[in-house]
Amino acid sequence: MKYVDRVIEEYKVKDASQPEFIQAMEEVIKSVEVIFDNHPEYENMAILERLLEPERTIKFKVPWIDDKGVTHVNRGYRIQYNSALGPYKGGIRFHPSVTESVLKFLGLEQTFKNALTNLPMGGGKGGSDFDPINKSELEIMRFCQSYMTELYRHIGENVDVPAGDMGVGAREIGYLFGQYRRITGASDRGVLTGKGVGYGGSLVRTQATGYGILYLATEVLKKFNIDPKGKRTIISGSGVVGTYAAEKATELGLKIVGMSDITGYILDEDFDINIIKELQKKKPFVFKDYVKVAQRGEFFPGSIYDTDVKVDIVMPCATQNEINLERARRLVKNGMFMMAEGANMPNSNEAIEYFLKNDIIVVPGKAGNAGGVATSGLEMTQNSTRLYWSAEEVDSKLKDIMHNIHQQCLTIMDEYNIDQKNYVAAANIAGVQKVIDAMIAQGDY
Ligand code: NDP
Repeated sequence: MKYVDRVIEEYKVKDASQPEFIQAMEEVIKSVEVIFDNHPEYENMAILERLLEPERTIKFKVPWIDDKGVTHVNRGYRIQYNSALGPYKGGIRFHPSVTESVLKFLGLEQTFKNALTNLPMGGGKGGSDFDPINKSELEIMRFCQSYMTELYRHIGENVDVPAGDMGVGAREIGYLFGQYRRITGASDRGVLTGKGVGYGGSLVRTQATGYGILYLATEVLKKFNIDPKGKRTIISGSGVVGTYAAEKATELGLKIVGMSDITGYILDEDFDINIIKELQKKKPFVFKDYVKVAQRGEFFPGSIYDTDVKVDIVMPCATQNEINLERARRLVKNGMFMMAEGANMPNSNEAIEYFLKNDIIVVPGKAGNAGGVATSGLEMTQNSTRLYWSAEEVDSKLKDIMHNIHQQCLTIMDEYNIDQKNYVAAANIAGVQKVIDAMIAQGDY
């Protein structure tokens, strides 16, 4: 049995209770098989096993008291995956679906994504199964403080630098940072990224993931001589990533025809993201109010991927495994020619396989959403130099990084003779090889 297949089978048994991790590890490893074919010596060095085992998994209780005085206990985690390229770096997710399996899949992806940015960042991920929906401001603050009360001893600007993810935005990062500062007495801004601009955050960090997807997607379209103007686009998720992907897409002339959140989706031939941005300022944000305010379009409960709208480009920006094989078939039938992932692992492995077989351009989240962590890297640089850049400077650096990611993919496509539409294999090979090289160079046994 080939080394790659043997390891996949072993991990399927060893981590049988971690379906998301198994899915991500299988997708990545299969797509980089050629590296191991070219380097038979990697088997003796157990390179795959060394990549797949996190350096450290930290698991802890997070007790907190709600507004009625009732105590709750959630599970908190930080997975410090791989530090061969720099301090662990990756977001914190607060969502009821968070498990060790979800964070391991995210941490593994993060490790290779960070490698693609060419910034000195290792990979990590953290979070809790806490559900921030319908929690008061004070409950959110108390939860963040309790989470940091344990986490603080494991992080540091040269050790592990968490950021936001689903359910963790600038407000939560503020509470987390405040507690870190209070406990340690230290004021090293660089311990967290995604901070408010007034106390060490970087301009454009909030927009960076969404903007980055569009910077990369438009480079890819250019390669195929496709004009983005007027291309019918749907975006799932109307959180941080979806909102700014929609904003940049609109600015670049794409035609958004549908958007969603967990409650359902809106179809509108003239979708206006500014209406969503205005609605988000109200608490609670009610997505379907778009239709009332815009006085056009229609709201439907359920998934946007179960509808038959004609579409050219799809940008999933919500959560993992939104698109299974059946939904993939529907998207292709409805005309989609490009899948540009904003979320991490929004497609099942079968869906990705189907797209590639059907000549669809696939840009994976690892490359597409790397603009977020890249700008976090720029925030770390600004924190350590104590010099802050203008929005234009950060945006221009972000564009350069996304351009560079595209160039790396093109180089790998040529070097390994990969299909020009298969950015999945190209991005995986580029990221994985970089981490392997650093591990070997450092004698990381
Ligand atoms: P947010 O929490 O800001 O937004 C998530 C959005 O997805 C919300 O609109 C949410 O709806 C919707 N959603 C959640 N679950 C589902 C579901 N099961 N079906 C449909 N919609 C759903 O998260 P982010 O925008 O920060 O993150 C989105 C994705 O991008 C994640 O995969 C994340 O890991 C990835 N990512 C984020 C980065 C960042 O910089 N924030 C960086 C790189 C990747 P509702 O609000 O109603 O719950």
